[in-house]
Amino acid sequence: MALYVQKFGGTSVGTVERIEAVADKVKSFRDAGHDIVVVVSAMSGETNRLLGLANAIMDEPTPREMDVLVSTGEQVTIALLSMALNKRGCAAKSYTGGQVKITTDETHTKARIRSIDEKNMRADLDEGRVVVVAGFQGVDEYGNITTLGRGGSDTTGVALAAALKADECQIYTDVDGVYTTDPRVVDSARRMERITFEEMIEMASLGSKILQIRSVEFAGKYNVPLRVLSSFKDGPGTLITIEGDEKMEQPVISGIAFNRDEAKLTVQGVPDIPGIASKILRPISDANIEVDMIVQNMGADNHTDFTFTVHRNDYKKAKVILDDVCEVLGAREVSGDDKIAKVSIVGVGMRSHAGVATQMFDSLSDEGINIQMISTSEIKISVVIAEKYLELAVRSLHSSFDLSEATEA
Ligand code: ADP
Ligand code: ASP
Ligand code: MG
Repeated sequence: MALYVQKFGGTSVGTVERIEAVADKVKSFRDAGHDIVVVVSAMSGETNRLLGLANAIMDEPTPREMDVLVSTGEQVTIALLSMALNKRGCAAKSYTGGQVKITTDETHTKARIRSIDEKNMRADLDEGRVVVVAGFQGVDEYGNITTLGRGGSDTTGVALAAALKADECQIYTDVDGVYTTDPRVVDSARRMERITFEEMIEMASLGSKILQIRSVEFAGKYNVPLRVLSSFKDGPGTLITIEGDEKMEQPVISGIAFNRDEAKLTVQGVPDIPGIASKILRPISDANIEVDMIVQNMGADNHTDFTFTVHRNDYKKAKVILDDVCEVLGAREVSGDDKIAKVSIVGVGMRSHAGVATQMFDSLSDEGINIQMISTSEIKISVVIAEKYLELAVRSLHSSFDLSEATEA
């Protein structure tokens, strides 16, 4: 007998038929004698639909009301799934985040979980009921509804698994595991048996939206065994582990992540004097705009170019701020490009292999793709390229690093 937290994403509960299929799956685990806590997302498309309604009323609705609105999507699916389970003779009870008492901080639309009261859930489990919890939502200490950011149901799943010390947190989705890259872009992408937390955190933060990054950080921190599986077909999925598989020869690169959500800004001809980076970036951070990659070129004639990337949604706002900064600093001009993409290769195997960057750059240059920016860490290399070359770049890197071939022994 094990305790599983099973999270089902939007596509998996996207229609009444699919909710019935989820109920069948959950019941089969119950019938095998396991205790089950289910976390569900809203039906696919529902969160976007709700955001659209809000934006039809005003450009920037207050975050508190936004959370009251978008959290409703998950309230629908917990009720429907509980009904489907009860219909099958499998006793189930639904809970909103507030009813469980998932307490978060007060940062509406991207709240962080502070504590989880497991009492109610435990009582239900002890009485043989399946507990069905709304993903993505909690309440702050004053009882206001909060949400955890897009994709936040993954984090609800992992947090409940940590609180309940579950044997495994299973993330059921529309693919049967974590692939070497998004299988929607590369047909020959391969499912991985295992991936380390360290690599999965990089993949998620570099744009692989299969798991919300915070859920992976949480699982790593609290040692929650985490597995990604398909809602639609049986199989082992992908286990996210602390250590790599000892039996397996470590591939140099484990996966490729990409991100189309960025834009690039350059302040040209800035006086090359100490403190310039902070003078440029302070007003950007004061406006709550997050900066990702930063490059400052070697100066000539005591002037330099300073380039950085931001989320594409923040591009226009950042450009207006920089135009002012440019004038104050006596820089030549501000230029920008919001048609860029970031492609990253990730792998713990990079630590023990030389020449990985060269292989990446060669492979891109063979396709005639110009690299605009580069950043590296111990286990990843990211480049910024023109967005129109994104798919070509991902495919050529996938084949250059032999990711399609089964390397598992
Ligand atoms: P859910 O609605 O179940 O939360 P998501 O859409 O958030 O599902 O995540 C699943 C999707 O993630 C897949 O359909 C796939 O296109 C995408 N994806 C991106 N990168 C990867 C990857 N490396 N491996 C598998 N899927 C990936
Ligand atoms: N429904 C929310 C979203 O679409 C949360 C989730 O699905 O994880 O982002
Ligand atoms: Mg998701």
